Amino acid sequence: MSAAGCIFCKIVAGEIPATVVRRGDGMLAFKDVNPQAPTHLLVIPTHHVASLNDAKDPQLLGRLLGFARDVARDAGVAERGYRVVMNTNPDGGQTVFHLHLHLLGGRPMTWPPG
Ligand code: 5GP
Ligand code: ZN
Repeated sequence: MSAAGCIFCKIVAGEIPATVVRRGDGMLAFKDVNPQAPTHLLVIPTHHVASLNDAKDPQLLGRLLGFARDVARDAGVAERGYRVVMNTNPDGGQTVFHLHLHLLGGRPMTWPPG
């Protein structure tokens, strides 16, 4: 089920172009249009869930994380390391309200995040 006007649902539907790196198991991984690291991928469920607060299915969250782990391996960042981030609602920095993980790698990350 897609949400009207949702950018990521449009990417799933092929209505907006994106560089897809992996698809399957109800998930999609594609390059972030405004990368913050040498590897910056977005990992999403293909059906619309607005945010972590709206994710009622713990199995979906588990599959999303496992999918991101596999994407990290295929992107070649697994051994050196990477970061997964899920921004939630305004204080979390969420700007696109379709559940997504950021997968960031290819450089050392700093802590704390901004
Ligand atoms: P958020 O701020 O919600 O955690 O992350 C949304 C991310 O989506 C941002 O990093 C932003 O660069 C990315 N983004 C927004 N619009 C598009 C788009 O049309 N295509 C792609 N590939 N990424 C997008
Ligand atoms: Zn959506």
